Amino acid sequence: MAINWTEAQIEEVINAVIKSLNGGAPTVKNEWDSTQYNGRKLIGVYADMNDAIDAATAGYKAIRAMSLEEREKVISAIRELCRKEASVMANLGVAETKMGNVPHKTAKHMLVADKTPGTADIVAQVKTGDYGLTLTEMAPFGVVGSITPSTNPSETVICNSIGMIAAGNGVVFNPHPNAIATSNYAVDLVNRACASAGGPQVLVASVVKPTLDTAQIMYKHPNIRLLVCTGGPGVVKSVLSSGKKAIGAGAGNPPVIVDDTADVRKAGKDIIDGCSFDNNLPCIAEKEVFAFANIADELIDSMLANGAYKINAEQANRLAGIVLVDVKNPKTGIVKKTVSRDCVGRSAKVLLEKIGVKVGDEVRCIICETDFEHPFVQHELMMPILPIVRVKNIDEAIDLAVKAEHGNRHTAHMHSKNIDNLTRFARAVETTIFVKNAPSYAGIGFGGEGHTTFTIAGPTGEGLTSARSFTRFRRCVLSESFRII
Ligand code: NAD
Repeated sequence: MAINWTEAQIEEVINAVIKSLNGGAPTVKNEWDSTQYNGRKLIGVYADMNDAIDAATAGYKAIRAMSLEEREKVISAIRELCRKEASVMANLGVAETKMGNVPHKTAKHMLVADKTPGTADIVAQVKTGDYGLTLTEMAPFGVVGSITPSTNPSETVICNSIGMIAAGNGVVFNPHPNAIATSNYAVDLVNRACASAGGPQVLVASVVKPTLDTAQIMYKHPNIRLLVCTGGPGVVKSVLSSGKKAIGAGAGNPPVIVDDTADVRKAGKDIIDGCSFDNNLPCIAEKEVFAFANIADELIDSMLANGAYKINAEQANRLAGIVLVDVKNPKTGIVKKTVSRDCVGRSAKVLLEKIGVKVGDEVRCIICETDFEHPFVQHELMMPILPIVRVKNIDEAIDLAVKAEHGNRHTAHMHSKNIDNLTRFARAVETTIFVKNAPSYAGIGFGGEGHTTFTIAGPTGEGLTSARSFTRFRRCVLSESFRII
């Protein structure tokens, strides 16, 4: 039987073979210069991780000497520069990582600038009584070591910086190697803003070439008092094994349930809006749908009317063979299906081309009907491919959705007007974020109430991190005084 493979398919297979020959080690092909932008040297970027930590330590000492008001001025300057340069970072991020899209990345930077809490998030607690007054204050840790992902690179650097600086910390980053130019641009932006507002020249620092070794230096350095990690399961496990206080923001696989009380047409639009946002890169984005069988056709119609393209079972299986590749663990020799880095964050149009389907830019998302076992349901793809599984009733929907979430306890969504169904699913799935009747991004303050973050710490329990997550509580007791009543 002759197989007519497209060039893209052949490239995928070659990449998969190279990966397995490398024993599964990630091939970092990024040749971007992470030390300068348009000939301007980036501030706070060091060849040696130890030098980066020294610089962030000096920055921390400088900010310790500043008043809260001065600190807030630094944060306002970061917000302003982030708004001004949002599209620069969005363009840089898309060009460097080849993932996501510029308008959505620009919107994400605006969201970070507008809705990441500053010093107002740091609130002291007071207890008075017969024995006087006890004050509990949220103090900085010192220098925070932060590991950031490729999916929201500059967004995470700036969001972390605002929160960590508001809490009074210095920060050193070990960014994702495939997004190092974009991440270091954001480090430089924070330092430029800080200096312009009267702060130190370098408050946050990074390295030219982050590796697992530079991460280890960070883990072991005595000046690093808190580790914050945003990424997949491997890196979260590694920081949690570091022996230091760590905040872990890990992987998700957010399921969506649509029952037969939902506004089905709105649900179809909301789900496609959320799923296709930045080509599905946000960890909170809709990844698989469980739809009541009696409304599934209407839901699919609404999705098709809102930028979805439906593929059949044969096309879905062929696409699965391209977007998921076999990677062998060099230690155990076990071969595991892993998302192809060459497909993560790509547009629906590019992904459809890989199976020989040509569509226009109006197509935002690929949908298909699958069974529960299908790899599209089971894997966190981070690309705009949305499997839809028909279910009989709420029991089956909840059972399958909870299983598909794999115990990450990250994010889940539901479209329903039945309060009992909504409550039952929210209780069963136990996720950090649960969005009802809205696109997923409402969960991080985009069209929904509440602050934003790009570090959602499910495993370690901080939830949607903010300045207070990066503090340590200190108590001061004044005995038998200061109670004025
Ligand atoms: P990734 O796991 O590939 O990399 C994250 C970072 O960890 C990178 O800087 C990488 O170089 C580093 N790293 C990887 N293994 C390491 C190790 N053993 N020791 C030290 N550093 C290590 O992440 P990615 O592909 O860029 O991001 C996608 C993943 O991150 C998805 O699983 C997504 O759900 C998750 N994510 C979670 C959140 C959240 O807030 N919970 C936010 C964004 C992304």
